[in-house]
Amino acid sequence: MIQDPRKPCIVGNWKMHGSRDMITKLVVEIVAGSASITDIEIVLCPPLVYLSFVENELREKKCKDHIQVGAQNVYCEQEGAYTGEISPLMLSDIGCHYVILGHSERRQFFAEDDNLIARKFIAAYHAALTPILCVGETALEREQGKTFEVVSRQMQAVFELAPLEALQKAIVAYEPVWAIGTGLTATPDQAEEVHSYLRSWIAKKYAKLANRMRILYGGSVKAENAKGLFAKANIDGALVGGASLSPKDFLNICENAVVRV
Ligand code: PEP
Repeated sequence: MIQDPRKPCIVGNWKMHGSRDMITKLVVEIVAGSASITDIEIVLCPPLVYLSFVENELREKKCKDHIQVGAQNVYCEQEGAYTGEISPLMLSDIGCHYVILGHSERRQFFAEDDNLIARKFIAAYHAALTPILCVGETALEREQGKTFEVVSRQMQAVFELAPLEALQKAIVAYEPVWAIGTGLTATPDQAEEVHSYLRSWIAKKYAKLANRMRILYGGSVKAENAKGLFAKANIDGALVGGASLSPKDFLNICENAVVRV
Protein backbone atom coordinates (compact mmCIF):
# COMPACT_ATOMS: atom_id res chain seq x y z
CA MET A 1 0.00 0.00 0.00
CA ILE A 2 1.66 3.28 -1.08
CA GLN A 3 0.75 6.05 1.34
CA ASP A 4 0.70 9.81 0.81
CA PRO A 5 4.06 11.20 1.83
CA ARG A 6 4.07 12.11 5.52
CA LYS A 7 0.34 11.55 6.04
CA PRO A 8 -0.08 11.76 9.83
CA CYS A 9 -0.35 8.38 11.44
CA ILE A 10 -1.58 7.52 14.93
CA VAL A 11 -0.91 3.98 16.10
CA GLY A 12 -2.64 2.49 19.14
CA ASN A 13 -0.58 -0.20 20.82
CA TRP A 14 -2.95 -2.08 23.10
CA LYS A 15 -0.09 -4.27 24.37
CA MET A 16 -1.33 -7.30 26.36
CA HIS A 17 -4.61 -5.71 27.42
CA GLY A 18 -8.24 -6.38 26.65
CA SER A 19 -10.91 -8.99 26.30
CA ARG A 20 -13.39 -9.63 23.52
CA ASP A 21 -15.95 -7.55 25.35
CA MET A 22 -13.66 -4.64 26.10
CA ILE A 23 -12.22 -4.64 22.58
CA THR A 24 -15.66 -4.68 20.97
CA LYS A 25 -16.58 -1.53 22.90
CA LEU A 26 -13.24 0.10 22.12
CA VAL A 27 -13.61 -0.50 18.38
CA VAL A 28 -17.23 0.70 18.31
CA GLU A 29 -16.28 3.96 20.03
CA ILE A 30 -13.15 4.57 17.96
CA VAL A 31 -15.04 3.92 14.73
CA ALA A 32 -17.90 6.25 15.72
CA GLY A 33 -15.59 8.98 16.99
CA SER A 34 -13.22 8.90 14.03
CA ALA A 35 -15.84 9.21 11.30
CA SER A 36 -14.84 12.84 10.70
CA ILE A 37 -11.08 12.27 11.12
CA THR A 38 -10.42 10.79 7.72
CA ASP A 39 -7.32 12.70 6.63
CA ILE A 40 -4.99 10.75 8.88
CA GLU A 41 -4.11 7.09 9.13
CA ILE A 42 -5.18 5.26 12.28
CA VAL A 43 -3.65 1.88 13.08
CA LEU A 44 -5.01 -0.31 15.88
CA CYS A 45 -2.65 -2.97 17.23
CA PRO A 46 -4.59 -5.40 19.42
CA PRO A 47 -3.13 -8.49 21.05
CA LEU A 48 -2.63 -11.07 18.32
CA VAL A 49 -5.53 -13.34 19.29
CA TYR A 50 -7.95 -10.44 18.71
CA LEU A 51 -6.39 -9.19 15.49
CA SER A 52 -8.74 -11.01 13.12
CA PHE A 53 -11.70 -10.04 15.24
CA VAL A 54 -10.80 -6.33 15.09
CA GLU A 55 -10.04 -6.53 11.37
CA ASN A 56 -13.41 -8.11 10.78
CA GLU A 57 -15.21 -5.44 12.82
CA LEU A 58 -13.48 -2.68 10.86
CA ARG A 59 -14.28 -4.31 7.54
CA GLU A 60 -17.92 -4.78 8.46
CA LYS A 61 -18.15 -1.17 9.59
CA LYS A 62 -16.56 -0.14 6.26
CA CYS A 63 -13.87 2.01 7.80
CA LYS A 64 -10.75 0.26 6.54
CA ASP A 65 -10.01 3.32 4.38
CA HIS A 66 -8.68 5.19 7.35
CA ILE A 67 -8.41 2.62 10.16
CA GLN A 68 -6.16 -0.39 9.74
CA VAL A 69 -4.96 -3.14 12.01
CA GLY A 70 -1.37 -3.83 12.93
CA ALA A 71 0.40 -6.57 14.86
CA GLN A 72 2.65 -5.89 17.84
CA ASN A 73 5.29 -8.36 16.71
CA VAL A 74 6.05 -11.00 14.09
CA TYR A 75 8.67 -13.67 13.41
CA CYS A 76 11.46 -13.35 10.82
CA GLU A 77 10.54 -16.46 8.81
CA GLN A 78 7.50 -17.01 6.61
CA GLU A 79 6.88 -20.65 7.43
CA GLY A 80 8.35 -23.61 9.26
CA ALA A 81 8.93 -25.42 12.52
CA TYR A 82 8.87 -22.39 14.84
CA THR A 83 6.40 -23.41 17.51
CA GLY A 84 4.44 -20.53 18.93
CA GLU A 85 5.55 -17.98 16.31
CA ILE A 86 3.50 -16.12 13.71
CA SER A 87 4.76 -15.36 10.23
CA PRO A 88 4.44 -12.10 8.28
CA LEU A 89 2.57 -13.94 5.50
CA MET A 90 -0.01 -15.09 8.03
CA LEU A 91 -0.57 -11.50 9.15
CA SER A 92 -1.01 -10.38 5.55
CA ASP A 93 -3.35 -13.27 4.94
CA ILE A 94 -5.77 -12.09 7.62
CA GLY A 95 -5.86 -8.49 6.35
CA CYS A 96 -3.23 -7.01 8.64
CA HIS A 97 -1.12 -4.29 6.95
CA TYR A 98 1.22 -3.05 9.68
CA VAL A 99 3.55 -4.53 12.26
CA ILE A 100 5.39 -2.88 15.16
CA LEU A 101 9.02 -4.04 15.28
CA GLY A 102 11.74 -3.46 17.83
CA HIS A 103 9.45 -2.13 20.55
CA SER A 104 11.57 -1.55 23.66
CA GLU A 105 9.49 -4.11 25.59
CA ARG A 106 10.49 -6.73 22.98
CA ARG A 107 14.12 -5.63 23.17
CA GLN A 108 14.08 -5.60 26.99
CA PHE A 109 11.92 -8.59 28.00
CA PHE A 110 12.42 -10.88 25.00
CA ALA A 111 16.08 -10.12 24.27
CA GLU A 112 15.42 -9.01 20.70
CA ASP A 113 18.61 -7.58 19.27
CA ASP A 114 19.21 -5.21 16.37
CA ASN A 115 19.97 -8.03 13.95
CA LEU A 116 16.83 -10.02 14.73
CA ILE A 117 14.74 -6.87 14.37
CA ALA A 118 16.36 -6.16 11.00
CA ARG A 119 15.56 -9.70 9.84
CA LYS A 120 11.97 -9.29 10.97
CA PHE A 121 11.85 -6.00 9.06
CA ILE A 122 12.91 -7.71 5.83
CA ALA A 123 10.48 -10.58 6.35
CA ALA A 124 7.65 -8.13 7.00
CA TYR A 125 8.49 -6.25 3.81
CA HIS A 126 8.44 -9.48 1.78
CA ALA A 127 4.94 -10.16 3.08
CA ALA A 128 3.75 -6.67 2.03
CA LEU A 129 3.45 -5.41 5.61
CA THR A 130 4.39 -1.88 6.65
CA PRO A 131 6.96 -2.13 9.44
CA ILE A 132 6.77 0.43 12.25
CA LEU A 133 10.36 0.37 13.46
CA CYS A 134 10.85 1.53 17.06
CA VAL A 135 14.12 3.08 18.16
CA GLY A 136 15.01 4.88 21.36
CA GLU A 137 17.45 5.23 24.22
CA THR A 138 17.16 4.28 27.89
CA ALA A 139 17.36 6.86 30.68
CA LEU A 140 20.97 5.88 31.38
CA GLU A 141 21.96 6.17 27.73
CA ARG A 142 20.42 9.65 27.62
CA GLU A 143 22.24 10.66 30.80
CA GLN A 144 25.48 9.44 29.25
CA GLY A 145 24.85 11.53 26.15
CA LYS A 146 24.45 8.45 23.96
CA THR A 147 20.98 9.11 22.49
CA PHE A 148 22.12 9.77 18.92
CA GLU A 149 24.63 6.91 19.05
CA VAL A 150 21.95 4.43 20.18
CA VAL A 151 19.28 5.42 17.66
CA SER A 152 21.88 5.47 14.85
CA ARG A 153 22.97 1.93 15.75
CA GLN A 154 19.36 0.70 15.82
CA MET A 155 18.63 2.34 12.44
CA GLN A 156 21.89 1.19 10.89
CA ALA A 157 21.13 -2.49 11.59
CA VAL A 158 17.98 -2.19 9.49
CA PHE A 159 19.39 0.09 6.77
CA GLU A 160 22.28 -2.34 6.26
CA LEU A 161 19.99 -5.25 5.40
CA ALA A 162 16.96 -3.57 3.86
CA PRO A 163 16.67 -2.58 0.20
CA LEU A 164 15.45 0.95 -0.54
CA GLU A 165 11.98 -0.35 -1.56
CA ALA A 166 11.56 -1.86 1.89
CA LEU A 167 12.59 1.36 3.61
CA GLN A 168 10.24 3.39 1.42
CA LYS A 169 7.32 1.50 2.89
CA ALA A 170 8.39 1.76 6.51
CA ILE A 171 7.51 4.08 9.38
CA VAL A 172 9.97 4.91 12.16
CA ALA A 173 8.86 5.54 15.75
CA TYR A 174 11.17 7.34 18.12
CA GLU A 175 10.31 5.98 21.54
CA PRO A 176 12.61 7.02 24.37
CA VAL A 177 12.49 4.02 26.71
CA TRP A 178 12.36 6.29 29.77
CA ALA A 179 9.08 7.78 28.51
CA ILE A 180 7.22 4.54 27.76
CA GLY A 181 4.47 3.78 30.24
CA THR A 182 6.13 6.02 32.82
CA GLY A 183 4.04 9.15 32.46
CA LEU A 184 7.26 11.02 31.57
CA THR A 185 6.99 12.48 28.09
CA ALA A 186 9.86 13.94 26.12
CA THR A 187 9.20 17.64 25.75
CA PRO A 188 8.34 18.69 22.19
CA ASP A 189 11.85 20.16 21.89
CA GLN A 190 13.55 17.00 23.19
CA ALA A 191 11.52 14.85 20.79
CA GLU A 192 12.05 17.19 17.84
CA GLU A 193 15.80 17.19 18.44
CA VAL A 194 15.93 13.42 17.94
CA HIS A 195 13.38 13.38 15.10
CA SER A 196 15.35 15.97 13.21
CA TYR A 197 18.57 14.03 13.89
CA LEU A 198 16.92 10.85 12.54
CA ARG A 199 15.74 12.65 9.42
CA SER A 200 19.19 14.00 8.70
CA TRP A 201 20.70 10.57 9.43
CA ILE A 202 18.36 9.07 6.80
CA ALA A 203 19.13 11.94 4.38
CA LYS A 204 22.83 11.07 4.43
CA LYS A 205 21.90 7.70 2.93
CA TYR A 206 18.81 8.53 0.87
CA ALA A 207 17.90 12.20 0.52
CA LYS A 208 14.47 11.68 -1.04
CA LEU A 209 13.49 9.02 1.46
CA ALA A 210 14.29 11.35 4.36
CA ASN A 211 11.63 13.82 3.24
CA ARG A 212 9.01 11.14 2.81
CA MET A 213 9.59 8.92 5.80
CA ARG A 214 7.15 9.27 8.65
CA ILE A 215 8.73 9.50 12.07
CA LEU A 216 6.26 9.05 14.92
CA TYR A 217 6.86 9.91 18.54
CA GLY A 218 5.96 7.44 21.30
CA GLY A 219 6.22 7.72 25.07
CA SER A 220 3.30 8.68 27.32
CA VAL A 221 1.49 10.62 24.59
CA LYS A 222 -1.81 11.90 25.95
CA ALA A 223 -4.53 14.27 24.90
CA GLU A 224 -2.80 17.04 26.87
CA ASN A 225 0.65 16.79 25.30
CA ALA A 226 -0.22 15.67 21.76
CA LYS A 227 -0.76 19.13 20.33
CA GLY A 228 2.65 20.44 21.39
CA LEU A 229 4.40 17.38 19.99
CA PHE A 230 2.52 17.44 16.67
CA ALA A 231 3.34 21.11 16.19
CA LYS A 232 6.97 20.13 15.59
CA ALA A 233 8.04 19.95 11.96
CA ASN A 234 9.52 16.46 12.11
CA ILE A 235 6.87 14.69 14.19
CA ASP A 236 4.41 12.94 11.89
CA GLY A 237 2.15 11.28 14.42
CA ALA A 238 2.35 9.07 17.48
CA LEU A 239 2.66 5.56 18.75
CA VAL A 240 0.32 5.50 21.73
CA GLY A 241 0.27 2.86 24.44
CA GLY A 242 -1.73 3.53 27.62
CA ALA A 243 -3.92 6.30 26.20
CA SER A 244 -4.98 4.15 23.24
CA LEU A 245 -7.11 2.05 25.61
CA SER A 246 -9.36 5.03 26.27
CA PRO A 247 -11.39 5.88 23.16
CA LYS A 248 -11.87 9.47 24.35
CA ASP A 249 -8.14 10.05 24.88
CA PHE A 250 -7.13 8.21 21.74
CA LEU A 251 -9.59 10.15 19.59
CA ASN A 252 -8.46 13.38 21.15
CA ILE A 253 -4.87 12.56 20.17
CA CYS A 254 -6.06 11.75 16.62
CA GLU A 255 -7.91 15.07 16.41
CA ASN A 256 -4.70 16.89 17.25
CA ALA A 257 -2.72 15.32 14.43
CA VAL A 258 -1.48 17.95 12.03
CA VAL A 259 -2.07 17.43 8.36
CA ARG A 260 0.73 19.19 6.50
CA VAL A 261 -0.03 20.57 3.07
C1 PEP B 1 4.18 2.21 23.58
O1 PEP B 1 3.70 1.18 24.02
O2 PEP B 1 4.78 2.20 22.51
C2 PEP B 1 4.02 3.46 24.33
C3 PEP B 1 4.51 4.56 23.83
O3 PEP B 1 3.35 3.37 25.54
P1 PEP B 1 2.83 4.61 26.42
O4 PEP B 1 2.09 5.54 25.49
O5 PEP B 1 1.94 4.00 27.44
O6 PEP B 1 4.03 5.27 27.00
